Amino acid sequence: MSEFTHVAEVLAHWEARRPDALALRYAGVDRSWAQLAQRVRRNAAAQRAAGLQPGDRIAVLDLNHPSCLELTLACAQAGTANAVVNFRLAPAEIAYVINDAKVRVLFVGPEFAAAVEALRPTLPTLERVIRVGGPDDEYEGWLAASEPDPAIYPAAPDHCFLQLYTSGTTGFPKGAMLTHRGMLAHSRNLAATQDYGPDSRVQVAMPLFHVGGTSTALVALTSGASVFLMRTPDPAAALAMLESERITHTFYVPALMAVMNDVPGAGARDYSSLQALCYGASPMPMPVLRRALAMFPGVLYQVYGMTEQSGAVSLLPPADHADPAVAHRLLSAGKPITGVEIEIRAPATGERVPTGQPGELWVRSEQRMGGYWGKPEATAAAFTPDGWLRSGDGGHMDADGYIYITDRIKDLIISGGENIYPAEIERVLAEHPAILDVAVIGVPDERWGEVPKAVVVARPGASIDAHEVVAWCRERIAAFKCPKTIDVVAALPRNPTGKILKKDLRKPYWEGRERQVV
Ligand code: ATP
Repeated sequence: MSEFTHVAEVLAHWEARRPDALALRYAGVDRSWAQLAQRVRRNAAAQRAAGLQPGDRIAVLDLNHPSCLELTLACAQAGTANAVVNFRLAPAEIAYVINDAKVRVLFVGPEFAAAVEALRPTLPTLERVIRVGGPDDEYEGWLAASEPDPAIYPAAPDHCFLQLYTSGTTGFPKGAMLTHRGMLAHSRNLAATQDYGPDSRVQVAMPLFHVGGTSTALVALTSGASVFLMRTPDPAAALAMLESERITHTFYVPALMAVMNDVPGAGARDYSSLQALCYGASPMPMPVLRRALAMFPGVLYQVYGMTEQSGAVSLLPPADHADPAVAHRLLSAGKPITGVEIEIRAPATGERVPTGQPGELWVRSEQRMGGYWGKPEATAAAFTPDGWLRSGDGGHMDADGYIYITDRIKDLIISGGENIYPAEIERVLAEHPAILDVAVIGVPDERWGEVPKAVVVARPGASIDAHEVVAWCRERIAAFKCPKTIDVVAALPRNPTGKILKKDLRKPYWEGRERQVV
């Protein structure tokens, strides 16, 4: 891959070398590099014709659609930024994001057009809504009204062209300003580690509002690879596409992989084209991983990443999934990728902790975002002056340099002065034959401050006996870590990337009280 310094160079580069090769396939429609580059130039011209200035925000509220990628690339060319909205948010949250980003033009998919109309009076900065796809499509007409304009805004490397909102598991979503330098560094670092190239065929199944979706697409495009975009992460369709399109690289979240295992006929398909199946963005339950290992031997990579670092920061490669001599490494998120430093620090003092000791994962790389849009204090709190991001994740590093993520520091349970890691208890409960899904949270307790509570979902047809489940834990972990109470629920609250919303689970128990957090 070339040493791009501006995202707009990517299209020109591959257009010049592979004009007729496939750049993007979606719903049976193909775009070559030459076609994609022309559409993006038209898009940049249309943005200028709409009066958008460098620094302005547009937004997309849609299921996955090529227009979102075209808009992002055109923003890079025009100096504007695409704030991609999480379509699973509630209407008030959607309004929050659109207003926070001061969006002037919104591109909306058919499924969301009515909701946007209803919200319109609450969106003061929004000048125009353009419908994308479906019978009322306005996007193609909007593009066609402008002639392709090759002008490129001379953006500084730290100029933001893509604004992705953190998932808000720990608070209100914040707009992470992703930059030319950061996204290109991520693409370079990941492509080097995972061998992306012009012959790669990359499936993008995860939503484009999440860094896992958009950064996978950008790694592919910068490498000159072909993108196979899916409207939704349908598990059966994703597996069928792996086979029919001879996909080489893909990225799934653990929640998707959990249901993939149950897709009829999934095990009988031909996945021999796959070189890298990445999973990550939230903890991988061991039973799901074991089944995935059987289905995709030799190609599984665990990815640890975050929006603030433009995507992946560490990888556990296939070799570490396969070696029984180091089976404990299946619990690890691997080692930092090329160009990324990770250290374990004491959250309170910032001191490095000794090997094997728990602390907070700090991450430093060129991939870092420009900051949180409109939130200088939050940016200053997230980064040290010398560029380390305080990830908010607890974990440790072993003597071989492998990192182990335990929990979000805010989810840690402090019971009678002892630190209890919910992930450790969740791992034990996930192995229980009657339990399908589990989250462990801290709830207030008169004597201990807080104690662990397990919230579980039963497997279909199974019933849960709380006493027996506590006994199961007692046989496997220290008594003080065992959940004191067990709630059985129909489903756990999750965000669209499959992260369990522990703050929502904790809320009813902590109303009016302060939780102690390290
Ligand atoms: P917010 O900061 O608003 O709570 P978020 O942190 O969920 O949102 P993202 O950038 O989407 O926002 O997610 C990054 C986080 O996802 C990481 O900090 C980590 O907690 C979790 N994560 C990512 N990869 C993994 C992994 N492989 N294993 C466990 N957790 C992971």
